[in-house]
Amino acid sequence: MNQTGRKSRRAADCKTQASRLFLDGYRAERLDEETVIVRDPEGSSFLVNPLFQTCTCDEALATSRCVHLLGYARLLTELQGYEEALIAMMEAEHDPWGMTLESDRLDREVRETGFCTF
Ligand SMILES: [Zn+2]
Repeated sequence: MNQTGRKSRRAADCKTQASRLFLDGYRAERLDEETVIVRDPEGSSFLVNPLFQTCTCDEALATSRCVHLLGYARLLTELQGYEEALIAMMEAEHDPWGMTLESDRLDREVRETGFCTF
């Protein structure tokens, strides 16, 4: 493979990797407009600057592109979706009938028995 072929192959790999950061165990946190912390599965943290498109990892310093830069936006979106799903799941577990139904049920029990059984 010639030099150009190798380069574009690497770029494609980088793009694929960037699209699956969440699945690979990467986590990210947006601190402000200019700072997103991206943590890799090994526990290293890198600072991505979305405004200036910079990252503090070696790859970005050498080539000015890296999976963190390419993938942080998608990672943030997927993390948010994951957290919302988790919260929804926890709420469903703690409150399987829903708050309103539960208080209706208690009201009815108090009305029907004349006292609260709890
Ligand atoms: Zn990076």
